[in-house]
Amino acid sequence: MTPERKPRSTDFSRRHIGPTPADIEQMLQAVGVSSLEELIQQTVPASIREAEPLNIGPGLSETEMLARMRAIASKNQVFTSLIGQGYYGTILPPVIQRNLLENPAWYTAYTPYQPEISQGRLEALLNFQTMVADLTGLDIANASLLDEATAAAEAMAVAQRSCKAPRTAFFVDRNVHPQTLAVLQTRAEPLGWQLVVGDPETDLNPEGLFGAIFQYPDTLGQIRDLRGPIERVKAAGGLAVVAADLLALTLLTPPGELGADIAVGSAQRFGVPMGYGGPHAGYMAIRDALKRALPGRLVGVSIDSRGNRAYRLTLQTREQHIRREKATSNICTAQVLLAVIASMYAVYHGPEGLREIAQSVHDKTAVLAAGLKRLGFERVNAHFFDTLTIRAEGRVEEILAEARRRRINLRKVDEAHIGIALDETTTPEVIEAVWQAFGGDFRYQDFVPENHLPAALQRTSPYLTHPVFNRYHSETELMRYMRRLADRDLALDRAMIPLGSCTMKLNAAAEMIPISWPEFANLHPFAPAEQAQGYHELFETLSRWLCEITGYDAVSLQPNSGAQGEYAGLLAIRAYHRSRGEGHRNVCLIPSSAHGTNPASAHMAGMEVVVVACDAQGYVDLNDLEAKAKQHADRLAAVMVTYPSTHGVFEEKIRELCEIVHRYGGQVYLDGANLNAQVGLAKPGHYGADVSHLNLHKTFAIPHGGGGPGMGPIAVKAHLAPFLPGHPVLDGGTAPVGPVAAAPYGSASILPISFAYIWMMGSEGLKRATEVAILNANYIASRLEPYFPVLYKNEKGRVAHECILDPRAFKARCDITAEDIAKRLIDFGFHAPTMSFPVAGTLMVEPTESESKHELDRFINAMIAIRQEIAQIERGELTAEESPLRHAPHTVLDLADENWNRKYTRAQGCFPAGQSAMDKYWSPVNRVDNVYGDRNIVCSCPPVEEYAS
Ligand SMILES: *Cc1c(COP(=O)(O)O)cnc(C)c1O
Repeated sequence: MTPERKPRSTDFSRRHIGPTPADIEQMLQAVGVSSLEELIQQTVPASIREAEPLNIGPGLSETEMLARMRAIASKNQVFTSLIGQGYYGTILPPVIQRNLLENPAWYTAYTPYQPEISQGRLEALLNFQTMVADLTGLDIANASLLDEATAAAEAMAVAQRSCKAPRTAFFVDRNVHPQTLAVLQTRAEPLGWQLVVGDPETDLNPEGLFGAIFQYPDTLGQIRDLRGPIERVKAAGGLAVVAADLLALTLLTPPGELGADIAVGSAQRFGVPMGYGGPHAGYMAIRDALKRALPGRLVGVSIDSRGNRAYRLTLQTREQHIRREKATSNICTAQVLLAVIASMYAVYHGPEGLREIAQSVHDKTAVLAAGLKRLGFERVNAHFFDTLTIRAEGRVEEILAEARRRRINLRKVDEAHIGIALDETTTPEVIEAVWQAFGGDFRYQDFVPENHLPAALQRTSPYLTHPVFNRYHSETELMRYMRRLADRDLALDRAMIPLGSCTMKLNAAAEMIPISWPEFANLHPFAPAEQAQGYHELFETLSRWLCEITGYDAVSLQPNSGAQGEYAGLLAIRAYHRSRGEGHRNVCLIPSSAHGTNPASAHMAGMEVVVVACDAQGYVDLNDLEAKAKQHADRLAAVMVTYPSTHGVFEEKIRELCEIVHRYGGQVYLDGANLNAQVGLAKPGHYGADVSHLNLHKTFAIPHGGGGPGMGPIAVKAHLAPFLPGHPVLDGGTAPVGPVAAAPYGSASILPISFAYIWMMGSEGLKRATEVAILNANYIASRLEPYFPVLYKNEKGRVAHECILDPRAFKARCDITAEDIAKRLIDFGFHAPTMSFPVAGTLMVEPTESESKHELDRFINAMIAIRQEIAQIERGELTAEESPLRHAPHTVLDLADENWNRKYTRAQGCFPAGQSAMDKYWSPVNRVDNVYGDRNIVCSCPPVEEYAS
């Protein structure tokens, strides 16, 4: 019997994979092999090749996947959530949902490291920063962090670093959200910091503290005047951090005016659904004097080569990719898309709109409070914004059950107290149902709301006065604003983004559809598990698949980025050593070529980084590795190795490397960011590694969102499984390793994307994707080798899924740099490859399997045309300064230049090598001045006067 063949139309993998079978034949020929199998044999060492196919099953069609995903989603029950505790119902304006969240121009963009092609999202992020700085009353805000709890942990680290005295104690308000406290504990312990938990009024002894954190309003809803405690912490030489709710700050005196040095929190309730925990944007705002200690990315204003205003990422020298273990934090991927959504929510509503929303939430809460008072219930918090803590001794379970019968979740604060938090979605019916759960039968309209904000803490200062927050309040205006910004950017919906190490593959529409379904979007992360059965089924299956793909035994879905996965993995290694009485093991070997997050994460895990050399081929120098492992044998904790190497080559000796480290008592952390070269071919868990993080936003099709969201689950061998991150909601805080994120399953609501990807690709499709990713990279390497040296190849002349092009010789010969080439590619309508990582002055190209031969050829031809422009300079026909390479990217201002006096024509500049005028992508700005931006730091929307001029 012949096996049933699927019609082409239902084979998703053929849509995901760019080259057709006929293209593949031609490409194999160009590469010089007769089959894909031959290429893979020449690329992937036999010693690690898997003999057995993946056991995931056949791929589903898009239609089948969506139908089955519906069935899973329908096992989630969407109750009204009044749990609060940092997560609130919110209304995502449909205009933002459709034109931003569901728009590939926004969600497929990369991190804005190339500022010229990122002006749209940079402006949106500047709006976000302005919004946060304004609402918190502080000077500078960053462009998002992963969530509120990790933002609090980052703030603690800023305070520790900024403290002049060598102090190790940090005060934590006992009324911060419990998950924030848990994440602070996880972070503090390996670094030897002590947390002093207590009441800010009665327990705060500021002597010897490097800082303190308070919650405002606190987790029980109380609004306390924090001026006293803040002043005392600062007077004793510490830093004061306030975790604050942005919506409440439209009505309350902001932390900056209370004297705080740092404010942190979440922008979730600005239009971003709860998503069973995420993703949403954490924020941090600080006083100007601390700006160099600010973690995460920061958008600033600079100028371009024509002197026009242009945005860029500023102060990047603070970041992990430059400062490594000395970095301010390990954060790389953050929450750009969600920050952009929150910023648009503020742009759409404007200052008055936000204040009205906040006032209405407060009024509804006041009415609820009045009813509960009439029923005789005592409220713990005298003042409140949106949250009530009600004493209900002996009746807690009964009331919670009554509420659940009405499809409402309340918060069980403890055995005697119930928490109720309202939000902009709360209706009078919901409030009446809550009264019923407490045994009352009132009509909402019979109450008149009173003001319960403390008189001394009412906000008087203005906010969001910039034109951008006051202009786009009609749907037409906002739709056009978002379109205008999107048009400035180059994302995957326009062209290949050949970024080495970043795996910018297709984010298929079918994979994206389920994330907007209410059954995935509208669950509170601490909702009862029985209401989230669909999610739990999805988590279990996804974890099983990830184990099957990696050869590991257990998975944690908690880390919200690759770097957080590294951190969680190292904490697991640390806890494992301690469990065996070897807690002194704290040396982490890291090859010099490693991604900057590796040493930054090791440092956060309390480890000492020892750098291992790489040889001339880019391989980890095994002699040096062994020497260092031996030297530190007593204290060796781990090695962090990227495989295939950061240089894009499968090292033959990976098994040996793992054996050496194990021999000296260390564990092997294998950075799984490059899993796209291995899925279906090799399994880290089978060739010696103990733990890896998997970047679902790289290999498993979650879009980059312009710099987040991401998901960095970790997979471990069985001996490390007990040390995966716990969470107080799951284990009551008893797990050996605490949480690394606020929510137990991280950014749960984007997991359906990776799930759908694996489901539709199936065992065969996944393997084929890997093979074609390797083919695409080798095709580019082979075709471009005559023009640009390919830096690292294996003995058989092959690269893995990416290749490094080396233009450094041009620099010496004719002063042309990788940056010139990167910017000139923009004129051809391409995003630059990864620049200067892992080798300074080079370009790393990763095409992924999703790019068609047509697009690869377009890229190759652009690179060849650029090489010919370089040749002109080499021949002395013009200097580098005079060349179109140095003036790239070109803009319409070049085209319209009345005083054009360059050595090349405007057409050569703007339409190189016959670029189509019809389909031209125009960079909105000329080359951005990096130095100017770092010298003149402006990180919020420029003042109104500047718009006028
Ligand atoms: C992308 C990447 C990381 C970091 O992942 P994030 O999600 O950005 O934190 C770590 N290591 C390597 C090799 C990477 O390419």
